[in-house]
Amino acid sequence: MEDERQSVHIAVLAGGVASAYVACETVKKYGKENTRLIFIDTFSKSAEGPVYEANSRFMKDVAEYIGLPLIEINDAENDSINIEFSNEDESNSALRYEVEVKLKQLLAYLEEVRENEKLEPILYFGSVPEEMYRNKKICLESIEKDFGNVSDLQLFFEVAPSKAIETHYPLVEAKNKDLDVKDIIQNEWRIELPRSERKRVYIAMFSGGAGSAYVAYYMVQAFGKENCKLFFTNTLWEDEDNLRFMDEVAEYIGLEITEILDGRTPEEVFYDYKFLGNSRLAKCSEELKVRQTLIFLEELRDNEKLEPVLYFGIAPHEKHRRDDSHVRRKSSLVREDSPDANIRKAAGIRSFYEHFPIEPIESRFPLVETLRADLDAKGIIQFEWGIKLPRMYTAAVEKAEKENDPIAKKLVKKGINGFSHANCGGRCVRGGFQHYATLYSIWPDQYKEQEEMEERFRKHFEKNVSILKKNGGAYTLKQFREEMERDGVEKYLFTPDETIPCVCSFS
Ligand code: SF4
Repeated sequence: MEDERQSVHIAVLAGGVASAYVACETVKKYGKENTRLIFIDTFSKSAEGPVYEANSRFMKDVAEYIGLPLIEINDAENDSINIEFSNEDESNSALRYEVEVKLKQLLAYLEEVRENEKLEPILYFGSVPEEMYRNKKICLESIEKDFGNVSDLQLFFEVAPSKAIETHYPLVEAKNKDLDVKDIIQNEWRIELPRSERKRVYIAMFSGGAGSAYVAYYMVQAFGKENCKLFFTNTLWEDEDNLRFMDEVAEYIGLEITEILDGRTPEEVFYDYKFLGNSRLAKCSEELKVRQTLIFLEELRDNEKLEPVLYFGIAPHEKHRRDDSHVRRKSSLVREDSPDANIRKAAGIRSFYEHFPIEPIESRFPLVETLRADLDAKGIIQFEWGIKLPRMYTAAVEKAEKENDPIAKKLVKKGINGFSHANCGGRCVRGGFQHYATLYSIWPDQYKEQEEMEERFRKHFEKNVSILKKNGGAYTLKQFREEMERDGVEKYLFTPDETIPCVCSFS
């Protein structure tokens, strides 16, 4: 007789803290012998972001703590299963496709339980009441929130199985909405939280460029000042007007800059490594920017238990039309095979932060992925915020206007208003011939400083090395200057460098 069937209580673990807590409570109430733990990993195949990767590890820790095996519902072959509801009205369910696929796989398991074991399954979900999101007991981006709301789940288990399955939502039904499940799991169970449940901190990689300034503003509007940081790594070669610009932007946004300093200049790094940075290898970038950034991010995780999400101001070179942005965003616009060099650079940065930190760090590129393609960050900053752009962007225009300089005028006429990237005061060792020809024409003093730096290094180490290379060999800034003085600078001014700005211009 079906009515006399014994029940089996099945806690559905979704990867987050709420379902972990519910599973533990279910076992306490009904005993291990009458309870099962099922893990529905809806992200194992579909996740593009690294944030979900650690959730299956967390589920294993939870099962071990509870002392029951973890039954994984992950039928890869059936990932593209056809969803057919008995009621064909689509509006009946707002569950995400991946969730529907996995629930359908769960149903197959439950039908077997009924058929073969003659047991009646009762399901327990970690759905969370809105109050718990509002009072910050559960992270807003929790996996459990993604999993679907109570009425959608209820409906699914009423209409999809051969016979309706009873479902429960203990946290929604509970009276104590202040229950701090994260705290219990962290401090009583002593299990490290899954990354999707750690508190996020949104970090604008603030470089002194207009793109990163706008992205910082956008990020703060989306997540609130209290959850954001403006992060800046100072190489001590920065142009003073960049610092002015950054201070004004920070004040406009209303958030202080978190400045990290290695303490060495790029030149000092070259001496430490006995290697002069050039367009192929720039230890200065690795040491002063990348390394400092990674240390800072790991410390945020270790000391403050925060999960960083990085925001970069990289914009596409070309203006792509993105009328279908909501669709294309899913398939990711940041691709290593993009024809656009800046987008390839973004893909490289994303891959770097997925592989080099101890755990992957999520990176976002709103100017590529989400914001309107025709957004004019420079115009907004100048005319809406009333902040003058860093002089490096407009150095040619200023020289043309103030000094009536003929070369600067030609540059402006060709649409070159200043330097293409605003790091290290125009002295970037990754710059090529066009970059240094522009520096020589617009800011000869900075060119001279760099030439002297190169000469000092060569003399000190008695090595025939240089920042620029010609015919596969050394070609010093002194030689280059002499050539420009002899043959004119224009030959180099309008031939774009093949080198693309280093990662420093975006970090
Ligand atoms: S901007 Fe250029 S010179 Fe400055 S740290 Fe980066 S690679 Fe080195």
